[in-house]
Amino acid sequence: MPGDAPAGPAAPLPPGSTVGILGGGQLGRMLAIAAARLGLHAHIFDPDPAAPAAEVAQSHTPASWTDHGALLDFAAAVDVATYEFENVPLETASTVAGAVTLHPRVRALEVAQDRAQEKRFLQEIGLAVAPWAEVDGPEEISTAAEATGLPAILKTRRLGYDGKGQVRLADGFDAAAAWETVGGAPSVLEGFVPFTAELSVIVARGAHGRVEAYDPGRNEHEGGILRRTTVPSGLPGRLVQDAVLAAGRIASALDYVGVMGVEFFAAPSGLIVNEIAPRVHNTGHWTIEACATDQFAQHIRAIAGWPLGAATRHADAVMDNLIGEDAADWARLAGRSGSALHLYGKAAIRPGRKMGHVTTLSALS
Ligand code: AMP
Repeated sequence: MPGDAPAGPAAPLPPGSTVGILGGGQLGRMLAIAAARLGLHAHIFDPDPAAPAAEVAQSHTPASWTDHGALLDFAAAVDVATYEFENVPLETASTVAGAVTLHPRVRALEVAQDRAQEKRFLQEIGLAVAPWAEVDGPEEISTAAEATGLPAILKTRRLGYDGKGQVRLADGFDAAAAWETVGGAPSVLEGFVPFTAELSVIVARGAHGRVEAYDPGRNEHEGGILRRTTVPSGLPGRLVQDAVLAAGRIASALDYVGVMGVEFFAAPSGLIVNEIAPRVHNTGHWTIEACATDQFAQHIRAIAGWPLGAATRHADAVMDNLIGEDAADWARLAGRSGSALHLYGKAAIRPGRKMGHVTTLSALS
């Protein structure tokens, strides 16, 4: 991709350097805190003047994603740049990458932003995905359904997250209504995977190609939103090992630098990759308390050209998201002595909004 930096920083960035973060949500906030712990500064780029990351960072540029001048000024003010959400416009990422090292590379964003490209990439490197077909209009849904089988899920190729932009189709489905539900956007139809569990691997790849993966967590979703991650996953060792190897293969094939989340289905046929998130990941929040180097510190280390830390886990952990009104219970949660409470500093509670999380540790099993 033009504008992609050829390589990572030649030498580790010294303390006092500045990490630029595109996106100022809770992931940016936890990245900024991790940067500060390592003696680095964080500069957030996010149009929202009340971005949760801004209050814990040294600087904040509250400009639009399309403000070329502001992006170039941001790039000039930082020593390395990264992003905390996968829907950073490609133009924005390329502008920044043309002026300063951007990790992960634009290529990772490009692949992760488009479900069709993502599936093709995964298949090319030999990993299994759900049966799928591209759908560019309501009249193509029936043919696609013959390829995938039913039930199936129609998903927009772009800009879907937390189960948004999706509709489930069963026998006798109404193609026109389904097409309308996904907003008439280019989509993929995905065969429904009869999974027994969902799991994810948080994997880090350093600037010099070393890979460190955290123990896979078992994930439970509700309404398409992550509710809970449990580690260890309790899944068979072989499956867990395969997941770790697959995540490493993805990171290496993308010449990735930074932390990535890879979501899998454990299906009767084996492991199926659901999706790649080229960023720190909600299913890795437990690493803050349960590992010597958490996913946020690991990401900062990787992009700054520092050696990766050990991803070893020293406790079992359950991470529960605080979604919407869950956060109103903060006082009771704060009183649970075995739990670590995280609140993201978002002013308004809204249904479905991730407001914080709680991690509960227990002795290593
Ligand atoms: P996604 O946004 O693609 O990660 O989908 C959100 C959630 O919907 C997943 O975590 C699964 O629980 C469910 N889901 C998505 N795709 C499939 C599929 N092909 N088969 C079964 N469940 C799915």
